[in-house]
Amino acid sequence: KKYIYSFDEGKKEMKSLLGGKGANLAEMSHIGLPVPPGFTITTEACLKYLEMGEELEDQIKEGIFDYIEELEEKQNKKFGDLEDPLLVSVRSGAVISMPGMMDTILNLGLNDKSVEGLAKKTSNPRFAYDSYRRLIQMFGNVVLGIPAYEFDNFLEDRKEKNGYDNDTELEVQDLKDIIEKFKNLIKKRKNIEFPQKPEEQLLMAVEAVFSSWNNSRARSYRNINDIPHDLGTAVNVQTMVFGNIGENSGTGVAFTRNPATGENKVFGEFLLNAQGEDVVAGIRTPKDISELKRLMPEVYEEFVELTETLEKHYKDMQDIEFTIQEGDLYVLQTRTGKRTADAAVNIAVDMEEEGLIDKETAILRVDPEDISQLLHPNFKKDELEKADMLAKGLAASPGAATGKVYFTSEDAVQAAEDGEDVILVRKETSPEDIEGMVKAEGILTSRGGMTSHAAVVARGMGKCCVAGVGDIRVDEDAKKFYVDDRVFSEGDYISLNGSLGEVYAGVIETTDAHLSDNFMMLMEWSDEYRQLGIYTNADTPKDAGVALDFGAEGIGLCRTEHMFFESGRIISVREMIVANTKKKRKKALDKLFPYQKDDFKEIFKVMEDKAVTIRLLDPPLHEFLPQNENDIKSLAKELSIPVESLKRTIEDLEEMNPMLGHRGCRLGISYPEIYKMQVKAIISAALEVNEEMGYDVQADIMIPLIGTEKELVILREQALEVAEELIDQASVDLSYTIGTMIEIPRAALLADDIAKHADFFSFGTNDLTQMTYGFSRDDAGKFINQYMDKEIFQKDPFATLDQKGVGKLVDMAVKLGRQTKKDLKIGICGEHGGEPSSIDFCHRVGLDYVSCSPYRVPIARLAAAQSAI
Ligand code: PEP
Ligand code: MG
Repeated sequence: KKYIYSFDEGKKEMKSLLGGKGANLAEMSHIGLPVPPGFTITTEACLKYLEMGEELEDQIKEGIFDYIEELEEKQNKKFGDLEDPLLVSVRSGAVISMPGMMDTILNLGLNDKSVEGLAKKTSNPRFAYDSYRRLIQMFGNVVLGIPAYEFDNFLEDRKEKNGYDNDTELEVQDLKDIIEKFKNLIKKRKNIEFPQKPEEQLLMAVEAVFSSWNNSRARSYRNINDIPHDLGTAVNVQTMVFGNIGENSGTGVAFTRNPATGENKVFGEFLLNAQGEDVVAGIRTPKDISELKRLMPEVYEEFVELTETLEKHYKDMQDIEFTIQEGDLYVLQTRTGKRTADAAVNIAVDMEEEGLIDKETAILRVDPEDISQLLHPNFKKDELEKADMLAKGLAASPGAATGKVYFTSEDAVQAAEDGEDVILVRKETSPEDIEGMVKAEGILTSRGGMTSHAAVVARGMGKCCVAGVGDIRVDEDAKKFYVDDRVFSEGDYISLNGSLGEVYAGVIETTDAHLSDNFMMLMEWSDEYRQLGIYTNADTPKDAGVALDFGAEGIGLCRTEHMFFESGRIISVREMIVANTKKKRKKALDKLFPYQKDDFKEIFKVMEDKAVTIRLLDPPLHEFLPQNENDIKSLAKELSIPVESLKRTIEDLEEMNPMLGHRGCRLGISYPEIYKMQVKAIISAALEVNEEMGYDVQADIMIPLIGTEKELVILREQALEVAEELIDQASVDLSYTIGTMIEIPRAALLADDIAKHADFFSFGTNDLTQMTYGFSRDDAGKFINQYMDKEIFQKDPFATLDQKGVGKLVDMAVKLGRQTKKDLKIGICGEHGGEPSSIDFCHRVGLDYVSCSPYRVPIARLAAAQSAI
């Protein structure tokens, strides 16, 4: 089996074997870009290593040195040579890039002797010793697991002692002293000498990369991001090029377009006389890439050309790492650049217009979940003007966030779990902070650039982030930060504007999002491709209006009970519930009727000729009654009934298991007058709107929780009677239908019978999930996380449709229903109707529409288009 490929042997399609970095290094070599030669040890070698109990097979070890020999020939240098050694970098490269894993070791191959050779050979001892101290530092941290700060402390001490601002001011003797200190540190912590044999360094580094696949941070990252644990990582071994030779060398990271806005202009940062992670580690403040144009115009020009070549080849925005060695440009990595949702939309639409990609590709380029960022609020303008601005930093990831400050990942997680809105404040973040970042509303760092860990990760998560705010001083131990003479402690409120990089004291109110032309264009394109209709779940005219603006084509679920709670009505609802005779109940219902009718009229007016699916009363009645003593007393008074009798009614209505109790159509069977009033309100409202506005209202009456054919027969008959009588008396026409929800497994199993009496089906997958699994949707939260931790569930089935089980019932019900009625209209109105993978399922089983909350309508449009492509 072949476990190693040189860059000349690989190509970009071999990503699963070579990892992202390895595949792209090979690809870039092929298209003639300046990539230092090297080779990749495959992900299969990693799996083999892990399988053998963390041991490298002899075949792999030998292979590594065969390929080193090949590099030696190419470079005309010897690995381990004392005068002019071949030096390499060792870097991990998984299929999906992943923070938390061991990353990079540079200058590997140096030792106490060859560092002197290198100094002589290059006539640049500072460079040689700087390279060696970096090797020991990275090796000690990454391979041996000694915390990075222990090494940093020595550097900082020396800088402070000598009054240096920058590490570039360290002189040869400083570096030699530091190297001794580093070596002693390794000895003290690990009881070993820093290995002097380059071969040993190399094998230890390779093994460390492979082992890091299974470290806890990497595992936790994979769990959060649904990345399988059995992919393994590759290792890249590459000839070193040096950005730390002097002021005509340097290193940087850049995006071929702006990753925050999508603007078609190279965007990036670099440092002269620097190496490796210096730029992203926030050690010195990097320079903007435009500075390079001034400092090294020729290199800059070559660089811009290189970014253009890469974009033309990959047909997507690239994130690249480069090094300049004495005026020569090298590219060390390219990958598809992470971007904000705003940038994703702009880049997709721009690239289609530039002719680089087609419409289908543009649609597929944007993650539907991501666009929710664009639909999210910003700070209110007038509020913002009054706001108390503390400091300005980098606009690292857009959006607005307000919350209480916490200074450690653990504290942030705890506070978020206690229901607080959290702003995580750190000097800078590292992969150890991932969990806190996930839970935070926003992230604030005092150090680091646009490509710092905090910035990159926040953008990936679509989370508001302000980075590199130099004017604040963070004291993580004291859990405080300082701005001028002001102090902010744990629990104090601040607000962040990630789009402008601003930090404010206190709470700032937010407003709705604004949608760009490119966004609208992408939505239009989506509509050309998608086959599913996109409806919305809306209970009020306002929600319906928002959904229409977002492109909804109808209402798939209007939950009438939400109207019951509004002021003026809840009292009549309660009167209806406690009524002990039919007559009293009717009297209360008569009071409710005008409210219901007006509510429906308002919604019909907003929706004009579009479908409006109104569900008859669903929740158990006790939900409408007060529970505490005082409220019960005042209600009894208001209704002029004895407190004791009200208490008895409440007790009677209590159920052991209300979600499986007296609810849904069962209420319609017990109290026909409730459903009759609702049908009367719907039909009268529709008739009146048709008459007043000249619309052709589409009223769809939906009966919930049907489990037997007979229930539907009775309730449909009853509704028809009410409706027909009203229509007979009216002077205008009305199209209406009567359908049912499929949300009880029995209804799905017998959907052919149910369909005989239904004009449409709508899957209530919230209840269908609850009843298929047999666990309560209100209580399952207590253990679902454990199920996810133990990998019994990959996803929460209440958020992402369980396609295998619940989906089987859906698929079956669609087929059975259409067996009875070929053209039966079928949709979904459970929460899953707004979740991309569930939408894809709905597309595949042939639903006519999905219905979701207003803010998810654009997500659903895009997801439905992607399913159809
Ligand atoms: C459902 O059960 O999926 C549904 C849409 O109804 P509700 O959530 O109101 O029970
Ligand atoms: Mg339901």
